[in-house]
Amino acid sequence: MSMKITVEMPQVSKCTATNCAYNVKQGCHARAITIGDGNQANCDSHFDSSPHTKANARVAGVGACKVTGCKYNDDFECNAQAINVGYVGQAVKCMTFAARS
Ligand code: SF4
Repeated sequence: MSMKITVEMPQVSKCTATNCAYNVKQGCHARAITIGDGNQANCDSHFDSSPHTKANARVAGVGACKVTGCKYNDDFECNAQAINVGYVGQAVKCMTFAARS
């Protein structure tokens, strides 16, 4: 018997890393992604591959974020409404990251 888990997560509104396996037309279709660590808001779920996801209607959530230096991070969870992901140089990063002041 399969079990579905429903949780509230910030959505990944857009991701411009079109070389990632989970990317379809600049949208992330993983179930949930992980961002981390410290002050480095890299997308840990990104990996280069031709697109494989069949779940084109699904929009990814932020399952976990280890970026404690971000003002949206509380207890290793993201509390932003939604995030954008994209390239900064060669790295794929959370563009919604905002350093704590
Ligand atoms: S907005 Fe901040 S807390 Fe949310 S995923 Fe991005 S870096 Fe993590």
